[in-house]
Amino acid sequence: MPAAPPRVGVLAIQGDVEAHARALARVGATPVRVRREKELDGLAALVLPGGESTTISKGLARLGLAEPLREFASSGRPLLGTCAGAILLARAVENHPVPTLGLLDLVAVRNAYGTQVDSFAAEVDPGAAHGLDGLRCVFIRAPQLRHPDADVEVLARVGGRPVLVRQGRVLAATFHPELGDDPRVHALLLESAAGPAGA
Ligand code: GLN
Repeated sequence: MPAAPPRVGVLAIQGDVEAHARALARVGATPVRVRREKELDGLAALVLPGGESTTISKGLARLGLAEPLREFASSGRPLLGTCAGAILLARAVENHPVPTLGLLDLVAVRNAYGTQVDSFAAEVDPGAAHGLDGLRCVFIRAPQLRHPDADVEVLARVGGRPVLVRQGRVLAATFHPELGDDPRVHALLLESAAGPAGA
């Protein structure tokens, strides 16, 4: 009998929840909207979508989800934070800091591309890891990720700056992989969910 599709959560406080759910379905996962601790049960992985990190951070506090999400990560289950979601994973934030989960050892600088290039699309620099060459990234009031610790792996860059990073099973993208139809970043999340625990 074929294995049941993995259930992958999308934090559904605010932001690009539905587009992530569609992207997860495209790579063969069953998306589950998460607003309560109980809804984390049985999930193989979790996505923190882009949106507005201030709003999402307040929602995490209001719903009592920060600690359960840290426990989710320490149980070895993978997380993918995109744009605002990446900010929420960072150890520290600059430019209107918000309380974060502190699961990624780097500094996220909010709105770091400034107002002139609020939104733009660009292809990753050649030499990206994991067959990500040619990936087209959409940036919307995107953060930049600075001062990564040595155990943060930079998987892809644009203009020399990290745009997709991984530390253990925590993945963060400063762009919006749920927009467009390139499934590679969501596929990477599913691959790490399928790998041996602690890998
Ligand atoms: N600028 C937003 C923030 O700092 C992030 C934008 C996004 O997620 N597209 O929260």
